[in-house]
Amino acid sequence: MNAPAAAVSTPVQNIHNYIGGKIAPATSGRAQDVFNPATGAVTGRVDLSSTTDVATAVAAAKAAFPAWAEMPPIRRARHMNKFLELVNKHKDDLARAITSEHGKVFSDAKGEVERGIDIIEFACGIPQLLKGDYTDQVSTGIDNYTMRQPLGVVAGITPFNFPVMVPCWMFPVAIAAGNTFILKPSPIDPTATLIMAELMQQAGFPAGVFNVVQGDKESVDALLEHPDVMAVSFVGSTPIANYVYETGARNGKRVQALGGAKNHLVVMPDAEVDKAVDALIGAAYGSAGERCMAISVAVLVGDIADEVIARVKARALTLNVNDGMVGDPEMGPIVTDIARKRITGYIDIGVAEGAKLVVDGRGYAVAGREAGFFVGPTLFDDVKTDMRIYREEIFGPVLACVRVKSFEEAVALINAHEFGNGVSLFTRDGGVARAFSRQIQVGMVGINVPIPVPMAWHGFGGWKRSLFGDMHAYGEEGVRFYTKQKSIMQRWPDSIGKGAEFAMPVAR
Ligand code: NAD
Repeated sequence: MNAPAAAVSTPVQNIHNYIGGKIAPATSGRAQDVFNPATGAVTGRVDLSSTTDVATAVAAAKAAFPAWAEMPPIRRARHMNKFLELVNKHKDDLARAITSEHGKVFSDAKGEVERGIDIIEFACGIPQLLKGDYTDQVSTGIDNYTMRQPLGVVAGITPFNFPVMVPCWMFPVAIAAGNTFILKPSPIDPTATLIMAELMQQAGFPAGVFNVVQGDKESVDALLEHPDVMAVSFVGSTPIANYVYETGARNGKRVQALGGAKNHLVVMPDAEVDKAVDALIGAAYGSAGERCMAISVAVLVGDIADEVIARVKARALTLNVNDGMVGDPEMGPIVTDIARKRITGYIDIGVAEGAKLVVDGRGYAVAGREAGFFVGPTLFDDVKTDMRIYREEIFGPVLACVRVKSFEEAVALINAHEFGNGVSLFTRDGGVARAFSRQIQVGMVGINVPIPVPMAWHGFGGWKRSLFGDMHAYGEEGVRFYTKQKSIMQRWPDSIGKGAEFAMPVAR
């Protein structure tokens, strides 16, 4: 393990809104501290916007919409291409901002930016994605064609755990499709969004096309209630996703709201144990388990359980946990002290419920970072499906192992779970893998892949209480979400027939 450098104190930055092409301090007078989770130090104060601040952002986005929507898609795509070039150039700046406020290790933060870049690249293909369809001669002298048009002002509300990637699931596609956008990021790690705003400006996007409103519940409610916001994309925890979905729908908006998760990884008796153990370690403890696609349950089928647990235990005990900017650690701190206490509280609950605590991450300290929000890798064996540590999302580096006798038992328990975001199966048997892919009630499936986050052109979304709404994020579903279909039926005077028709028109 590398010796950590002494924590240095940096000046506290004020983090404001970005509205109509300018940094704009909120008028609310409310703000909250932003921390470096590795040191525990306050590094910033982020504005918490009011309903008035949201109204100002919506007005700026509304004013920018007509000209932006009118611009030919290929020219919008050229701006997006420029943005792509700039994000590539500033990848490290974005990753540094992520690590210093979220805590994930620098290499992982760079990976997050890369996955955001994938979507920006996808959005650069918008002329092809917006191409309509056309039927010549649906009736004599009449053609029918379909086009997709932007909605207007749309909003994105994003979680703390991917401050660059999750906003990139939304705004590049929405903006390329001709909408103007308001991003309401998590107040826990807001700085990266302002770097993206600056890069959008450098890329030549007109003022008001992309706006950032910093805030909490008040700004979310203002967006959900504002009559000029046409659609809302949300990613976060299930109770808030449910609330956003219901409130947005009640206010007549199109809503996609992605929620929480409890992702299982099934290890079949024929699996390659080394690969399954590597997968469990990376997927359970990478980003300190604070990924919506993290594996938090290992389902161990038959005899393989003892060996898998012994090997995961050995790796967990030697995991390199440190400040994400120091050396090359495998896991960083937890995002906030509140989250750290929630996670250690769940470990207490697991012990009280009778699960076997094999590796205990409570009280974990990193030399030189004693005030950081660390929890060590934690491993439970003999977890039962009625325990809270099995049913509820912990969102930390806690892996619960459930032992089952058969493949059928594994499938049944996963299908009975409240969440259905991601799932993974490790096996060498193609028939079993095929049956699993078809039978499992989960939106994203990995076969010998622990975190099956779909590529930019496939779209991301869970099932059950992991997604409210019917469109997945990004990919062609994203394009559909941010556009509405219009059908045009046309004929020209020289082909117009015999005056008014009162019967339902039929093909002639
Ligand atoms: P969160 O639900 O606390 O916050 C998400 C967003 O909602 C933030 O912008 C936050 O400011 C806002 N918010 C919080 N409380 C609110 C309230 N009462 N009313 C209105 N808005 C409110 O989530 P988080 O802790 O930032 O992120 C972690 C959660 O996100 C986990 O549950 C994780 O599984 C989930 N997540 C899901 C996906 C997915 O694709 N399904 C991806 C990433 C994260």
